[in-house]
Amino acid sequence: MAENSTVQAAPERSLNFLEEIIEADLASGKHKSILTRFPPEPNGYLHIGHAKSICLNFGLAQKYGGATNLRFDDTNPAKEDTEYVDSIKQDVRWLGFSWANERYASDYFDQLYEWALALIRKGLAYVDDQPQEEIRLGRGAVTRPGTDSPYRSRSVAENLDLFARMRSGEFADGEKVLRAKIDMAHPNMLLRDPILYRILHAEHHRTGSKWCIYPMYDYAHGESDSIEGITHSICTLEFDVHRPLYDWFIEKLEIFPSRQYEFARLNLTYTVMSKRKLLELVKSGSVRGWDDPRMPTICGIRRRGYTPESIRLFADKVGVAKRDNVIDISLLEWCVREDLNKRALRRFAVINPIRLVITNYPEGQVEELDATNNPEDPAAGTRKIRFSRELYIEREDFMENPPKKFFRLAPGQEVRLKYAYIVRCEEVVKDADGSVVEVRCTYSPETRSGGGNPRQVKGTIHWLSAGRCRAAEVRLFDRLFTESHMDSIPEGADYKNYLNPDSLKTVTARVEEAIDGAYREGALPVQFERTGYFALDPDSTSEKPVFNRTVTLKDTWASISKK
Ligand code: ATP
Ligand code: MG
Repeated sequence: MAENSTVQAAPERSLNFLEEIIEADLASGKHKSILTRFPPEPNGYLHIGHAKSICLNFGLAQKYGGATNLRFDDTNPAKEDTEYVDSIKQDVRWLGFSWANERYASDYFDQLYEWALALIRKGLAYVDDQPQEEIRLGRGAVTRPGTDSPYRSRSVAENLDLFARMRSGEFADGEKVLRAKIDMAHPNMLLRDPILYRILHAEHHRTGSKWCIYPMYDYAHGESDSIEGITHSICTLEFDVHRPLYDWFIEKLEIFPSRQYEFARLNLTYTVMSKRKLLELVKSGSVRGWDDPRMPTICGIRRRGYTPESIRLFADKVGVAKRDNVIDISLLEWCVREDLNKRALRRFAVINPIRLVITNYPEGQVEELDATNNPEDPAAGTRKIRFSRELYIEREDFMENPPKKFFRLAPGQEVRLKYAYIVRCEEVVKDADGSVVEVRCTYSPETRSGGGNPRQVKGTIHWLSAGRCRAAEVRLFDRLFTESHMDSIPEGADYKNYLNPDSLKTVTARVEEAIDGAYREGALPVQFERTGYFALDPDSTSEKPVFNRTVTLKDTWASISKK
């Protein structure tokens, strides 16, 4: 069991509403098999919210023997880039999923253009010359109907001619748009003649300068789903008002009836979750990059040491809600503990070391002791660690004037050194400033672990042999923000004001000599016993390994914030 087990694994969970819909569709024969899609816009790196969507789309398809397409929603040439396409593919693969087809909305530009012509011919679309602002004003308000554009009754022939000329580059950006002709008094503002195409003389990352008109999201998305034969198009709640428009295009064009379903987006405490804000954090230097281990990006949490298994477990625990909510980030941390507890190797590391000398231990003597690699997994075996007269222990494990229930080391007090002996603190050595630099102890040889000695002490601490360990840099991370509900920060306030100044603390530590070997055996983080899980950072050099604390062993945050 992980130390903090406030969340219990659910027994058999009941179906979520999407599973219910899919099972009904399969049972009724509406669909023989299901096809979902994950549709990122390649304008940034994916975050944990996207991971939720990936796990949901791919997970549903897996569960019901269907398939999932990866579709890049690249209809906005200005912000999109191939760099992002590559990182998105890497992230989806890392999460453990493979897509049936890699598609791009831009693959469909020809078809979408043909369908726009079809709508014009049916009298369902027209070219509007009004500037953007007039179009906006003409839409009216929720409480007030809009007004028809003076160009709304153009003939089919004139619309066909103007739209072809928009495409051939005759007009400047913003000079004309193509709009659907629906209803300027529709209670749903999105149906008041939405824009289908705008002119943008911009280079596209895939189609180059072939096009100077680009379809709008609403026009492109449903049709792209339909072209691919997507059966269940799953998106976040804010798109529910778009659904009538999604359906309108499919109905008028008489194409494959993809259906859209909405679920609540993932929000996490102490986290901002929008590509725009994450980009700002990178650009302002608030973090070191997209893959800074404090970032909620997939590449950030990967570098931090999170495993794909833990993210999938998290997505499952979060479930599928129909109402917006904010998930406690400690659930994410619980999931990674749960996974790593079973699989991570244990090692000794001493963060913030203090010297311990065993005065009655023979100088020059070294003992090889057996240490368990993972108590949760006997197959992980044991390793040898070397014990000697001069050791390091954590400064936190010693107190000169301890409170009553301090069961670690203090003057006159005994503690067990894990896998080794019981030692007793006899005296301390201080520097000129009065701080303790060395703890001097004696040991009792008959207390060696596993030697059948019945004597018990309350505390056990870990240690390292002073001559048999290496220095390492350790990066201790904390919440990136100080505010739990970043979504409720007042409009206009700069969320960057809520950055936690202590979100990164770099310390030097001592680690077991063969620590790199532990990492070579698998890319998993290692448990530094009694401290937390730590992943080897790519900044490591052969002289000095660098470790990122993935997560502490216990949910210290929850207990502190309750006080
Ligand atoms: P952001 O607002 O962070 O920029 P986005 O919605 O614009 O995200 P897209 O690339 O358009 O990003 O999203 C791809 C898919 O991921 C969409 O289906 C979207 O609904 C889903 N998604 C994005 N953010 C979340 C989230 N927080 N929770 C669940 N799904 C999400
Ligand atoms: Mg988007």
